[in-house]
Amino acid sequence: MKILVVEDEIKTGDYLRQGLTEAGFVVDLARDGLDGLHLAQTDAYDLAILDVMLPGIDGWAVLQGIRKAGKDMPVLFLTARDQVQDRVHGLELGADDYMVKPFAFAELLARVRIHLRRGSKAKESEYLRIADLELDLMRRRVTRSGKRIDLTAKEFALLELLLRRQGEVLPRSLIASQVWDMNFDSDSNVIEVAMRRLRAKVDDGFEPKLIRTIRGMGYVMEIAE
Ligand code: CA
Repeated sequence: MKILVVEDEIKTGDYLRQGLTEAGFVVDLARDGLDGLHLAQTDAYDLAILDVMLPGIDGWAVLQGIRKAGKDMPVLFLTARDQVQDRVHGLELGADDYMVKPFAFAELLARVRIHLRRGSKAKESEYLRIADLELDLMRRRVTRSGKRIDLTAKEFALLELLLRRQGEVLPRSLIASQVWDMNFDSDSNVIEVAMRRLRAKVDDGFEPKLIRTIRGMGYVMEIAE
């Protein structure tokens, strides 16, 4: 799942990016309001975390822009301003939550998960499946034929993407934008390596094979005939 963080304080931004990445999320970090709004309008995110006081445009304006663009992902404000009227203002504009700095990362992570869960409950079940492969989105667990498969955070994100779009050939560029962050080097063979490892874990020793390479095009998840 992909999260947008808009935060101009270098330390806080880096801390959030690192913590959320370690928790298994793909994170894009913008350091000012305009960049943040641009990313929110052009990329697909499951959740956004916004600071209020930002260079360019403030967090309120970013939120308004996000909602104006018809994006309904959960938006969580993170700010030093703890006055009641700020809180009310944010909620009136359509924010989903509000956290005051300094914050405990564990609490932020818990709230992020709650909002993602609420959003996904409305739209879909908490499991993704194909054949005897099952991915549990909330517990972040994968099994095949009932056997547990251990995946890294990136492998999990890759598998989740393949499962959500099963039957579709996914080009490398799309995989890069959804599973790696915006600084991804498209010339590297990182995707191939990760895909090979994922396939070894998911398909080796099992039938039918589920992940297929379409030469020159990308990858597809489907039940091999
Ligand atoms: Ca700030």
